[in-house]
Order: sequence, then C-alpha cells, then structure tokens
Amino acid sequence: MGWRDADGVIEELVALLPALPDPWDVGVLCERLSEQRGRPLLLHPIDLPALPFGLWYDDGDRDHVLHRSGVTGYHRDHVVLHEICHMLARHNTVRAFTFEDLVENAARNRFDTRQEEVAELFASRVLRTVGLRRPMDEVERRASEVFGAV
Ligand SMILES: [Zn+2]
Repeated sequence: MGWRDADGVIEELVALLPALPDPWDVGVLCERLSEQRGRPLLLHPIDLPALPFGLWYDDGDRDHVLHRSGVTGYHRDHVVLHEICHMLARHNTVRAFTFEDLVENAARNRFDTRQEEVAELFASRVLRTVGLRRPMDEVERRASEVFGAV
C-alpha cells in the first residue's frame, strides 16, 4: 500500500472516534471511547525509563494507555492519540497480563514503521481538528520532508 492511501486509512480511523470534546480534553475523549466501545480505556501517567513515550496494551478486558508523567499538554495528547490509533486499528496487539509481561512486550514488540507513521499522522490530524498546534520541532521537520505537510 503506497502513501497515497494513508489519508484514506486515517480518515477511516478518525471516523471511529466519538464526538471530539469541546473544549478539547483527551481524558474526556477516553471516557467517550470507553462508553462507545463498552470497554474501559484507562490512562496511566507513569515514569519508567524502560518504556517508550507511550504504550497501549490490552489486558483482556480493558485497554490501557501508558504515557510519561513528565510529558504534558500537546505532547501528552499527541502520545495518547498515537496509542489510541494503534488501539482502533488493532495494530499488533500488545497483550499483557502482568507488569512483567508489559515491560517485556515493550522492549520486544515494535510496531512496524508504517503503523507508526499512520499513528503519528492520526494524532496530528485529530489535534489539528480540535485547533491545537505546536511549532514545528525537529521530528516534524523531518516528517514533513518525507511526507509533505504534517
Ligand atoms: Zn506507536
């Protein structure tokens, strides 16, 4: 699948979201997603150097999104939405039943590059839709060189 299809994939994923909160609040979005899916979606601020910036996992009954507790505002919302994208798209599901499973999975289980790029674009799309912007940082500059406008 080429990059011309990425927009369509992202549109389909965005369409799975409930109404976006106004004013924007990523926690409220997670509550709405929990209701819509009939399945709890829990956010966990956590500070563990072994974990990536964010992580979604499925414990069998609930979805969990971990994000670094030191990251706030736009950047936190971006990380959370990135993980929500993996959840909605059922990208390589990370199942973890114990904390040890989780850490092991985080170290071993990498999403493929395309899934990562879709998740990044999804998060940027949603935040743009709710009117949040940030100045381009180095990561975005590199992404925009590769993919066009981010
Ligand atoms: Zn990811």
